[in-house]
Amino acid sequence: MSPHVWRGILEEYRDRMPVTDATPVVTLREGGTPLIHSEELSERTGCEVHLKFDGANPTGSFKDRGMTVAISKAKEAGAEAVICASTGNTSASAAAYAGKAGMTCGVIVPKGKIALGKLAQALVHGAKVIQIDGNFDQALILCRDLAETYPVELVNSVNPYRIDGQRTGAWEICDQLGRAPDVHVMPVGNAGNITAYWRGYREYSADGRTDVLPVMRGYQAAGAAPLVLGHPVELPQTIATAIRIGNPASWQPAVDAATESGGSIRSVTDREIIAAFRLIARHGVFAEMASAASVAGLLQLHEAGELEPGQIITCVLTGHGLKDPEWAISGAAEPVTIPADRESAARELGLLA
Ligand SMILES: *Cc1c(COP(=O)(O)O)cnc(C)c1O
Repeated sequence: MSPHVWRGILEEYRDRMPVTDATPVVTLREGGTPLIHSEELSERTGCEVHLKFDGANPTGSFKDRGMTVAISKAKEAGAEAVICASTGNTSASAAAYAGKAGMTCGVIVPKGKIALGKLAQALVHGAKVIQIDGNFDQALILCRDLAETYPVELVNSVNPYRIDGQRTGAWEICDQLGRAPDVHVMPVGNAGNITAYWRGYREYSADGRTDVLPVMRGYQAAGAAPLVLGHPVELPQTIATAIRIGNPASWQPAVDAATESGGSIRSVTDREIIAAFRLIARHGVFAEMASAASVAGLLQLHEAGELEPGQIITCVLTGHGLKDPEWAISGAAEPVTIPADRESAARELGLLA
């Protein structure tokens, strides 16, 4: 048998996707990301914990799962330009896929609130980057307005093709585990991804591919937790910039996912997020701050006694830590400098008896 080479989510899940033979598939071979068993978190919680590392996507976040569909469908419809509002990862992904498709891409971002790596991505892929003196929510209102007025396709997660593509995260988890998890934990910002995962899990279950449905546990940052408070937050604040959103576009479907699954949407503090970030990084997985909200949430559930021993749990790590290296470095000790000889190196490494 020849080894299986991953073809990207539109080909791997073609029969479940809104594509036909007439759809030009624009792909960077996204998806097929690792599901990593976490010994550390399993031991700590008494459960079987797996990390779905979506930072391993082509542009370093799960946004690629939705973008391959949104850009392919935009191309099929004859669009020549796309636009999005972004806290960073959507613009990185849109810029890359638009570049692959030969389309132009405009991105509108909140000034000074984008991690450096994400900004670099949008720029190298040739997007027209515009900063506003405002937050993500205002950028999205502006983009919706532009897409209604001018011939440009909106590729934020209000575009239903984005959600269609992001369902594949749930399917991959089920395919990798050979079943659905008992509990599924993830960060929540604009709330498109939790909407997509819940749809994905329900569809697999309805088709008889899985027999349990997970309890959905979504986590917002405490300073940007409109779904927890029950009202929009005008000035959302958190170090986890990817979930710094005060008025989620997929508000109701996210609440439905939590309610229907017997789960919840709660918040974690920046302090809890940083602790979770460090914990998984120490054990080999470098995810971005927003992603660590899922692990922070898992630890919170454990401390509240809300997990049952032996449960199978998945935590989605939505983006790669390299997006924002400044954060990682600022919290670490500075490397020492030594002369280039064996003894100095051995002494510094603690190898001398
Ligand atoms: C977009 C994003 C989120 C939030 O996802 P939503 O669908 O907006 O809830 C979380 N983490 C990262 C890294 C992201 O890029």
